[in-house]
This record gives sequence, structure tokens and C-alpha cells, in this order.
Amino acid sequence: MMTENSTRRITLLGSTGSIGTNTLAVLGEFSDKFTVKYLTAHQNWQKLLMQAQAFRPVAVCLTGIAPDLAIENAFKNLGIDTWWGEAGLIEIASQTDTDIMINALVGAIGLKPTLLAIETGKNIALSNKETLVMAGELVMQAAQKKGVTVIPIDSEHSAIFQCLTGEKAESIERLILTASGGPFWKRDPDTFKDITIAEALKHPNWNMGRKITIDSATLMNKGLEVIEAHWLFNIAPARINVLIHPPSIVHSMVEFVDGSIKAQLGVPDMKIPIQYALSYPARWKNSQITRFDLSQHFKLEFYPPDYTKFRTLDLAYAALETGGTASAILNAANEAAVQAFLDEKIQFQQIAETIESALNHFSHIKTPELQDLLQADQWARTFVAESII
Ligand code: MG
Repeated sequence: MMTENSTRRITLLGSTGSIGTNTLAVLGEFSDKFTVKYLTAHQNWQKLLMQAQAFRPVAVCLTGIAPDLAIENAFKNLGIDTWWGEAGLIEIASQTDTDIMINALVGAIGLKPTLLAIETGKNIALSNKETLVMAGELVMQAAQKKGVTVIPIDSEHSAIFQCLTGEKAESIERLILTASGGPFWKRDPDTFKDITIAEALKHPNWNMGRKITIDSATLMNKGLEVIEAHWLFNIAPARINVLIHPPSIVHSMVEFVDGSIKAQLGVPDMKIPIQYALSYPARWKNSQITRFDLSQHFKLEFYPPDYTKFRTLDLAYAALETGGTASAILNAANEAAVQAFLDEKIQFQQIAETIESALNHFSHIKTPELQDLLQADQWARTFVAESII
């Protein structure tokens, strides 16, 4: 274990994305507390090179481009090794000279590295949704066995994690996940077929990647978060509720058995949950973060979600209830359907229809191994690809 004064050694998977960039902003602010050992990116090697110049990791990995000598040399000039592809990612997740692995990967590719990092005793700061959506049971069991902490980076789960700090499990009545509602929560569902990609990519409060922005518009993002919350906090699905909260000021809440409700509030800035995952259980002063001005007029509006309009939310609860491989199918079918929407192959409302069809056509396995989950993931992608031609 580390002592209070030693620097924490960091592996950051997905350093050039929106979470990765914010993570490096936090790490840069507290450079006396951290040493960055490994960084990975998908394709943006120029940005990765700039980050490597600033943070001087021992190695980097590029997962989305073929090995390239010129790129390798650019990193070599800084004394940094370059690894490639999923094999390189696995290699980095398996290194033992790291205390915390921040998993900010997008997609199913994030699952194996999390399991390997747990195997090698690293604490996990988790942003990759697929890890818990696909394999929540396996991952949390492995973490418990190894005695490592999985701390959520997502704003909602961080809010719940913060509300639960100091509380006993038997005190919890229910978790309340807030959702912005996305751009369409007031829109007439009869016009959903006319939704354009540009409209769906316009998120009212958060600036995020394309896939998660579409997930916010369909509310699938909240569905995936319900599944993650179930595994992270070990709370039955029926005791996890969703509320539409358009201003995104309350990041989530916990209701306790005595009727008290705790909420975590703040500006919508991912640096807050990222920093908490790294400073936990301490809190650090960060001058980069804008303060929420409570003296300004603001409304705390909450509305129940419309489950018939946003069917993805219902599908997520159903998948959680089915258990086993169902959430992996839900996740992969969603990823493929969102891509099909972005490629203008299906309409907005067909995203939910496609996922439901995948869930209905798969023979679910009750207690899957990792291999079964990965196969279910592949099956769902193929199913979606074949059903939208
Ligand atoms: Mg979220």
C-alpha cells in the first residue's frame, strides 16, 4: 500500500477523449501527487504525443491505427515506448508498477483491461460503462476478491458514491439517478422519425463524445447507468429510480430509510467526479473548477421519465431483470444501432426497436463466463448489422 506522501502512479486508458483530457487537466493541477506511467489513445497520436511531452509516461499505446515506425520514433525521441492494438492495451493494464488505473475507454474494448488491472491489484477509477454493463457481476466479484476499490467517474455514480460515504448499506432506501432528459424529452414522439443527427448531437448541458450524446438523447445512457449503479452499489433494480432533471445541477441522490434525501450538486464539470475518484476519501481544492453560484436564481425541477416515449430505459431494466448475458446484448446492440443511426442507416426511434429485437432473439445464458459475454457482444453486433441491411 502507498503511504500518504508517496505519489500515486497512474495508468490512463483513453487519454485523448473527453474524460481523458479532463483527467490530465486534474493530474496536471496536482502534479506533485501523481506520476503518469502509461497513456493510451485510439487514433489521435498527435494529441497523445503532446500529452506524452507534458506527462512523460514510460509507454503509450495506440489501439486504433496500424503500427507505424515514424510514430514510434516520435515517441522514442522522448524516451517513450509505443505499444499497439488491443494486445498493447492488455499489456499496459497488466503492468504492476501502477496504483490506479483510470479507464476512460469507450466501448466493449474497456472490459478486459479492467479485469486485468483488478487481477494485478490496481484500484480502478471507472468511466468505461461497458465494464459494468457487460460484466458487472464478474468485475465486482473480482474486485472484492482482490480487495481493490472500483470508484466511479461518471457524474451520477460519483454523486451516489459521495452521498453514500459514511452510510451503512441497510440505511439505503433507494438510489435516484438524475437525467438531463436530452434534447427530446419534450418532443412529440410522432416526430421522432424525423430527428436528424445534428439535432440528436445537441446536448443541452454536457459536452461529450458522439456515442454517449446519442445515448443521452434516447435515454439509453440512463438505462446503462441504472445497470452500473446496480452492480456498483449492490442495490436491487426496483430500488433504483430515474428522474428527469433538465438543469443537471443535482447529479444524483440517495433516499435513506428515515426519509432523508442526500443530493450532490455542482456545475456540470467532469473534473469534479474525476478528481474525487483520485482524491477519495480526501477532497482537494482545485482553482480550475467553476463554483456553482447558489445566489443566482435557479429551479430544481424534477419530472418522471416517460417510459413509453423513451423505450430504451425500459429495455435496460428488463435486461437487468433477465440477468446473465442480457445486459451485454443490450449494450452491444445499442452501440451498433447508434452507429447505424449516425451512419444514416436507421431512424432515431429504430435504435430502441433494434435493441429490443436483439434481446428477443438471443438465448440468454444465466451465469456467463467472460467468454460468453464477449460472444454475446459479438452476436448482437452481427445481428444488428444483418437486420438493418
Ligand atoms: Mg452520466
